[in-house]
Amino acid sequence: MLHASAELQRFEHSSKSDGSLSFLVLGDWGRRGAYNQSEVAFQMGEVGEKLDIDFVVSTGDNFYDNGLTSHHDSAFEESFTNIYTAKSLQKQWYSVLGNHDYRGDAEAQLSPVLREIDRRWLCLRSFIVDSELAEIFFVDTTPFVEEYFSDSDGHSYDWRGIMPQKSYITNLLKDVELALRESTAKWKIVVGHHAIRSVGHHGDTQELIKQLLPILQANNVDFYMNGHDHCLEHISDTQSPIQFLTSGAGSKAWRGDLKKLNRGDLKFFYDGQGFMSVKLTQTDANIEFYDVSGKVLHRLTTSKQLYTSM
Ligand SMILES: [Zn+2]
Repeated sequence: MLHASAELQRFEHSSKSDGSLSFLVLGDWGRRGAYNQSEVAFQMGEVGEKLDIDFVVSTGDNFYDNGLTSHHDSAFEESFTNIYTAKSLQKQWYSVLGNHDYRGDAEAQLSPVLREIDRRWLCLRSFIVDSELAEIFFVDTTPFVEEYFSDSDGHSYDWRGIMPQKSYITNLLKDVELALRESTAKWKIVVGHHAIRSVGHHGDTQELIKQLLPILQANNVDFYMNGHDHCLEHISDTQSPIQFLTSGAGSKAWRGDLKKLNRGDLKFFYDGQGFMSVKLTQTDANIEFYDVSGKVLHRLTTSKQLYTSM
């Protein structure tokens, strides 16, 4: 029997009439407002208004400590609907699952029932958001991480739909590679929960370095965005133009146990709470990191030629 890999689900989200696209990126947040989650949410509302954002990207670990218990779990409203109340945040949210989400009923977060409770919510394992200007490839990274399977540290994970792990990953990588190869978007962005590169608590994810990174490097990806480490950071790939951007500071932060910081590829690291904004045009990307008071801590700008000659 032939097992054709299922194509990734694709959502169209058009750019603004001036051709630009803006969005916020947030990770590791759902704590019923605690640990400055509400303060970060407030500043997202302010920046969202200023940039007239088109949508919000969540890099996962959406609900602490153990995801949702079911699609009736009140944490959904207490940590999402009732927290991100600013007018500018009443846009589509595109979310992936983090490892903490897999400790609960992972399928609950994927359920259309949640979209009936709050129509902003869209969480799937892996999918594509296509704005023509940019294509954003959301990748389910938790199943890549071996230690969750071999040494689960007392946690139980909801692996329904994932087993067998090996073929799940193989098919996913095949789908991502094909979609990236066929993409004609000006900007190619990949979003996952786990960092490829990080100097934070969890550090690099070896499985992603080995299996996912070569595909991104071979297909002209501009940015890889993730959460997992509760910090804000920017690391440059040493072998390609890829910029690694961590936005996992939506609530609990200040862990304080970073790895060594004196390395040339580390452009920025902040151990506290905050979020990131992205503004794209045909020629420029402007990315900013904000702290809990809305102060811009770091800015990354990249330009592309409008016309490239072969
Ligand atoms: Zn995580």
